[in-house]
Amino acid sequence: METIVILGGGAGGLELATRLGDTLGAGKRARVLLVDRNPGHFWKPLLHTVASGKCDPRVEELSFPAQAMEHDFEFIQGEVLCMDRAHQTITLAPRKHSGSDGVCRTIAYDKLVLALGAVTNFYNVPGAADHALTLDSVDDAETFRRRFIDACIKAGEQKTQVDVVIVGGGATGVELAAELSNSARALAAYRVHTLNPETDIRISVIERGQHLLPQLHPQQANRAARQLRSLGIDVLTGTAVAQVTADAVIDAAGIAHRADLTLWAAGVEAPQLCATFGLAVNNLRQIVVDSSLCSTNDSQIYALGDCASYVCPIKGAAPPRAQVAHQQAMFLADLLSRRSGTPRPDFRYHDYGSLVSLGPQTAVGVLTGAVTGKSIRVGGATASLLYQLLYQKHLLNLHGTARVITQALVDWLRAKIVPPVKLY
Ligand SMILES: Cc1cc2nc3c(=O)[nH]c(=O)nc-3n(C[C@H](O)[C@H](O)[C@H](O)COP(=O)(O)OP(=O)(O)OC[C@H]3O[C@@H](n4cnc5c(N)ncnc54)[C@H](O)[C@@H]3O)c2cc1C
Repeated sequence: METIVILGGGAGGLELATRLGDTLGAGKRARVLLVDRNPGHFWKPLLHTVASGKCDPRVEELSFPAQAMEHDFEFIQGEVLCMDRAHQTITLAPRKHSGSDGVCRTIAYDKLVLALGAVTNFYNVPGAADHALTLDSVDDAETFRRRFIDACIKAGEQKTQVDVVIVGGGATGVELAAELSNSARALAAYRVHTLNPETDIRISVIERGQHLLPQLHPQQANRAARQLRSLGIDVLTGTAVAQVTADAVIDAAGIAHRADLTLWAAGVEAPQLCATFGLAVNNLRQIVVDSSLCSTNDSQIYALGDCASYVCPIKGAAPPRAQVAHQQAMFLADLLSRRSGTPRPDFRYHDYGSLVSLGPQTAVGVLTGAVTGKSIRVGGATASLLYQLLYQKHLLNLHGTARVITQALVDWLRAKIVPPVKLY
């Protein structure tokens, strides 16, 4: 039986493992094996809600072993260290907690799918990697949340202020700023800190471009900027960051923006590991793939999502987004299920638009018709509802309708009895 190994159980990798398990695994047509460094899956687009304390990752996290059992694939937890393409094996770090005698593990594959995601790109800005926090993982988001609460408590005791600087006015930076502003108020209401959230907690978003949210129409970007300003957030566009220090972000004009906490959300690149496989990569270390999402220099290796560089002949490079990872996962689920000898289809990316949350009740974005290709701009409560449905759609792909409805009911009940933000 052929062994298909998927490295990375994120937005794309887990959907692929689930679909292949349901088809090939259940029918004993192939052994499907998922590898991830974590024991559970958390949907990355929700990380800003973990950082703000709105979402408890322990509640939302999906257990890989449970999903594997329910969908006929195998799961191995481990950090991918390297790959031997000549012998078609990958090597995992020793099991955590196995002590000094832990040995590396080797896994053989017939076909390999790389779904390793992305990490923050600091663009070599001096001090950024040393002093700025990131939102690459649940641990990062939890670190930010705890540091924010600590900074607020300390500033309250010392009767000073807290300055948070978010570098990057894309979706991540904008969504985090809006959520954080709401959390600061909620934490004050629960008396976690004694600061006045309107005057003592200053949140700034610094963006190099002339507008926030470059993927949206400038009118919508302005709408987002107005919404952030109405929450008391400083929006600085046309401002490039030249340096980050322990307590400030210094822009290209030499102005220092005081920062107790700096969060870098200005771009992503593929993990360093991707450049070590001997596969063709682009300048962001993304694996270069052809129209079948197959590496251009190894026909047994595929790549999807943020770690892949797929360039559509008409629309150009696919962006690092969850909807790309999802579409590529569904494409590979179909491709890898085909009997050998059947023709390979070409992947086509459909941009269905983009939605950006601006707090609990409002969002902004654009929706693009699948057939007509026409775009309509959406905003307010309607956009907010559509934004929330994106996560439900991801859950639907993983669990099916009955479980998603049950989960939604549980979440609704839970929201009635727990505070709206994590308080410690
Ligand atoms: C805060 C935030 C907000 C976002 N908002 C949106 C949004 O609104 N809409 C949108 O479309 N996109 C959004 N994105 C982007 C979206 O999350 C990514 O495009 C998407 O998650 C990519 O999916 P992926 O499967 O390629 O990788 P990921 O989902 O990142 O998964 C990668 C997996 O690989 C595992 N892994 C990595 N390295 C190793 C290793 N060495 N060994 C073992 N396992 C490893 C990781 O643990 C992880 O589970 C957002 C991203 C962030 C950070």
